[in-house]
Parts: sequence; structure tokens; C-alpha cells
Amino acid sequence: MTGRLSEKIPVMRFAPSPTGYLHLGGARTALFNYLLARKLGGRFLLRVEDTDRRRSTPEAVGAILDGLSWLGIEWDGEIVFQSRGLERHLMAAHALLEKGAAYRCFCTPERLEKQTELARLHKKPYIYDRTCLALDPAAAAERAAAGEPHVLRFRIPPGETAFRDGVHGEVRFDNKELEDFVILRSDGTPTYQLAVVADDIYMGITHIIRGDDHISNTPKQLLLYRALEAEAPEFAHVPLILGPDKKRLSKRHGATGLVEYREQGFLSQAVFNFLALLGWSPGEDREILERRELVNLFSLGGINKRNAVFDQTKLLWMNGQYLSRMAAGEVLDLVKEEFLAAGLIAENSAPPEKDYLLRVLDLVRQRCRLTSDLLPRSRYFFPVELEYDQAAVDKHWKPGAAGLLSALADELQKTTDWSENSLEELLRTLAEKLHVSAGKLIHPLRVALTGMDVSPGIFEVMALMGRDLVLDRLGAALERFEGIRGN
Ligand code: GLU
Repeated sequence: MTGRLSEKIPVMRFAPSPTGYLHLGGARTALFNYLLARKLGGRFLLRVEDTDRRRSTPEAVGAILDGLSWLGIEWDGEIVFQSRGLERHLMAAHALLEKGAAYRCFCTPERLEKQTELARLHKKPYIYDRTCLALDPAAAAERAAAGEPHVLRFRIPPGETAFRDGVHGEVRFDNKELEDFVILRSDGTPTYQLAVVADDIYMGITHIIRGDDHISNTPKQLLLYRALEAEAPEFAHVPLILGPDKKRLSKRHGATGLVEYREQGFLSQAVFNFLALLGWSPGEDREILERRELVNLFSLGGINKRNAVFDQTKLLWMNGQYLSRMAAGEVLDLVKEEFLAAGLIAENSAPPEKDYLLRVLDLVRQRCRLTSDLLPRSRYFFPVELEYDQAAVDKHWKPGAAGLLSALADELQKTTDWSENSLEELLRTLAEKLHVSAGKLIHPLRVALTGMDVSPGIFEVMALMGRDLVLDRLGAALERFEGIRGN
């Protein structure tokens, strides 16, 4: 068997089967391996398990690489494609056969199906009955040489297989419950169990973090390591991710591929942070943890033994946190194309336009959770025709609103001080003079300026918008809503 690539440093891997997009569960597995490898100063390798030629597509490989790159999960060295490792898989299979750790099985699929059916009738789990284990190896080799179809099965030794799982502690399997599983199919292709072990040995993998759904594979794989006289890695099986209904997370829960999260306006830093906390906790209350802190804090000890529950609201909240903490320039880089396409800004906006745009983004992002919220919530800061939210108009454009806003427009025309504080003072003084509450002015004013009934503080909005746009917007709203409902 090919030896380990390195004996010294921890070597971890992510080994996705490219049969679809990179989903949250896969991304979390990748992330946990990545975090531990980086923390321990080890290597993090990527192996694409593309042996299922019918289901593995180049698009799916692309989607996985794309998702990992977006999250900033960088792998070391060249990607290992499992489909190119056939030679080492066959070498391992033949080494096992030669040692008597594997044997040829000529049982036909029909016979096995019949037995499976019989076991089902008796409500017993089916385990291969080892008929072919009794064959004389030399006679079996002759039948094989004569072209008789057969598979190679691994011979499960008697006893017990135990290991210390990094999450679950001591795990034991009675070998009686394990079947003499197939390692090489009749068409000569290796099965998952064989390929994964041969590849992990070849790549020198020392630690494996993977989903709980693999825990029943681990005793089989440990027995393969032993038979191949190779040192087994340490395993840690991470509990599954469930939807809020406590069923295994799937598309039904709105959990889509990683790339779709990007399209929906999620930030990769936020998703990275969120995934790290999906089943792991640093043991303190903080939830916003940057990449470097996560690397420093990550440990198997912090992985929860219970299944993690996916909480979309928390993800949105976290995204909002990251959005409000980023430098305004970075936010601009994220949305620039979108703002250009919407005609809100021009290609090479010079200062003061650029400065204005940065200030707008800085203000509105405090209330946004997704980057895709930024444009609709910034639009009214630009001299484009406003779309009014009808519900906001119905709610806040009460009888008398037009008269109040006309009076306000007159005052605004006259003032020379356009600062946030003095605008507020101006409005409150006018309200007092007119014997109305300030809200009677503020609510229709907000609708007139923004078209909506929520916005950042209205005086901040006015100060930033500037006199011309504010007066234009007021004029347009008065023209449009004048005369309705007794104004
Ligand atoms: N390719 C397997 C999967 O995507 C993972 C193999 C492993 O981690 O051992 O589930």
C-alpha cells in the first residue's frame, strides 16, 4: 500500500460526492474540517468522489468548488479526483484478496435478491450468508479466470470493532452485525468503502470529521485499515442538521445550495459564521465570530451531541449584523453593479456622488438584513420617480396631510440650516404652531419622501437627501395625493 504523504502534521479532507449542489450540510462538514486543520496548523485537502459516473456531473463539481471558494474555504494542494484513483483502489482490493482478507463471491444477483426478500418476510435484516466464503480460493480463481462474473467481498473478522469518536466518545460494533461487504463490483469498479479507505490512506488523512450518517461505515472502514496494515485516522461524527420541524434538513425547509444563498443577498462571512455555529459552540455566549476567531476557538469538544436545528431567522439576523459592520466601501463593492444597472449611479461617479452613495448605503444598511435589500431601500435617495407603497399611503396620508405638508414645504424653503438637528427643530416648532402632534407631520412626510412607512430617522434622511430632492419629493406627493380623502 502507498504510504502516508506525511507523518507529521494533521491532514484533513472534505470528500464530497458531486451529485448536486453544495448544500448546507456538506458546507458545514467542509468548514469543520477546514477549521480544525487550520487551527492545528495542518493541511486541508479536497477529494471529489466522482466514481458514480452517471450521477457525478462537471456542473456539480463546479458548484461545489464555487461554493467553497465563495465561503473562503481554501484547500491545500491539488484536488484529488477519486475516479482517477482506480489503480490504487484495485491494488488495495488485490492486496486484500491475496491475504485472504477478501474473497470472490459468485452468488448471482437473483439469488441475493431472493434471500433479501426472504429476510424481509421474516422481518430480519439481511446479511450475506457467506456461501462463497467456503469456496476453495484456487478453484474460485480458476472460475474467475474463465470469465465467470463475481464480486470481491471483504471478510469480516470475528470480534468487536471499537473506536473513540471525537464527538460521541467510545463507539462499539459487534462484528456479527456487519456483512461481508462488497469491495469490488462485478464490473471491476470499487465500492465506496474501498475507494474511500484507499484514498484516505494515499492522502495521509489523519482526522476525519463527517456526518453522523457515516457512523455505520466507520467499523467497516476501520477493519479495512487494519487488513491493509495502515494506521486509521481519528473519526468525529457530527450530528445532522434538522429543519425547524425536526426532520432532516432538505429543500423543503428553504435550504438551498450555497450559491443560491449568495444570490439571495447573503454575505459569505455571515454564512461562514452561521455554519460554524450549526452544531458547534465556543462555549461562550458570543455569536458573531470572525473567521480568525473561529479558527482559534474551534475544537471537537465544542461539537454538540444532539442534532443541530437550522434557523433561517438567525441566519438573517447574523447577515444583518455583518452587513451593518462592514466598511461602507465594501458594501458599495457588493452592490455597485446592481445600482449601475438600475441607473441610480453612473459608471465612474466622482466624489461628491460617490460620497453621497457611500453615506446612503451607510445609513440604510443598518436596517437591512440582505444585500438585496439595499437597492430597494436606497432608491428614494436618488432622483428617480418614486413608487409609493399603497398601504403606507392609506395608513399615513390622512385628511389634512396635504395642508400640513404644504406648510412644512414653505418653512423648508425658507430655512438656511439644513442640518439634522435644525430640521427636527423646524418641524417640531411648526407642529406646535399648528397645534398638531409632530407625528401628524412626520408620518405623511415619510411617505412623501420615501414612498414607504419605514425608513431610517426621517431627519437623518432629509439631511442626507438635501433640500432640492426633499422639496421635489414633497411637491410630487402633494400633486399626486392632493384632493384625495378630503385633503
Ligand atoms: N463522499 C461521501 C459523501 O459525500 C463522504 C465520504 C466520507 O466522508 O467518508 O457523503
